[in-house]
Amino acid sequence: MNRRDFLLWTAAAGATLGVARWVLPTSGAAATLAARPDGLSGPRPSHHDPNGGFRNPWPTADTREEGGFWRWQRERRQKELAPNPPPEALPAADPNIAYPRAGADELRITWVGHATFLIQVGGVNLLTDPHWSHRASPVQFAGPARFTPPGVAWDRLPTIDAVLLSHNHYDHLDDGTVRRLRRTLGDEVRWFTPLEYRGWFRSRGVQNVTELDWWQQTTLDGPAGPLRIVALPCQHWTSRTPWNRQEQLWASWAVIAPNGQSVYFGGDSGYFPGYPEIPERVGTFDALLLPIGAYEPRWFMRPVHMNPEEALRTYQDLGGTGTLLGMHWGTWRLTDEDPLEPPLRMRDVWDAVGLPPNQLQIPRHGETWIHT
Ligand code: ZN
Ligand code: ZN
Repeated sequence: MNRRDFLLWTAAAGATLGVARWVLPTSGAAATLAARPDGLSGPRPSHHDPNGGFRNPWPTADTREEGGFWRWQRERRQKELAPNPPPEALPAADPNIAYPRAGADELRITWVGHATFLIQVGGVNLLTDPHWSHRASPVQFAGPARFTPPGVAWDRLPTIDAVLLSHNHYDHLDDGTVRRLRRTLGDEVRWFTPLEYRGWFRSRGVQNVTELDWWQQTTLDGPAGPLRIVALPCQHWTSRTPWNRQEQLWASWAVIAPNGQSVYFGGDSGYFPGYPEIPERVGTFDALLLPIGAYEPRWFMRPVHMNPEEALRTYQDLGGTGTLLGMHWGTWRLTDEDPLEPPLRMRDVWDAVGLPPNQLQIPRHGETWIHT
């Protein structure tokens, strides 16, 4: 690898994983928020950094180490990492999507790969963190490449009513897919994002963007009445370039249909002590889409990525009911654990506490889970 490639790779890998904060010195005054983005007066929420941008307000986020990215790179060169899985190690399933939409009382969730799901709830079609490109990278000639194709081919997608975005890392916010959705559906598709994404979307011709702060909610019209869409906290971080750090918020999401069916999309998150507040304020969930991969080495990844043990704890903190659907594994090589380990380890920790086996679902690419 020559120097230019190395620098590109480093930028891509760093931004993909959200580790640039550890790589680069924090310098200069970040853009100051001109006003409370929610339009309210009163004290600034604790996740709004007084110096501009956003921050995690919990002590669990505060385990940064100067030069940690370089220590990780150094150590992983000395380790023998498990190889990337061949495509046959990740067999795909045939999706069971309802066209053009599912009934208003149905709940169907299809895993496309990584953090991309098609959620059919309340009679509408939603995508989470839509990603159909080959690489999770700022460029399509370098950076992590897919182990296996998206579980739902682009031309098998039903029409999409709305998208939930968790944050701006390259494995979650994909420029190519955003442009593709705009070309196909124009401003028919409504984007729900955390704060400070409108400009990014506008520069790509996408106008139909609703930005929400943590705990803010809005509605999405459906055939049986409006669905509630709630932006919720998570413990993560944002960066797409070395000069854009913590300027855009990260979030998890709740979707609640008129019939009460509810889905939690966990986005990308480390375990943090704020989870129990979510069911207290929003209720429990029928389906919880939680990340279970990208956790090694722990000393470096723990603040930003939960492991299966922490995913179980998150599930319990979120009320301990409903079905956990595992995600954020088996698609791109981002970290050091064996890419095939997360589902096995998740099943082990789940069974060890005696929870009903079928309330843990780790879908294959393309597999559809239907709430019964
Ligand atoms: Zn991320
Ligand atoms: Zn991620």
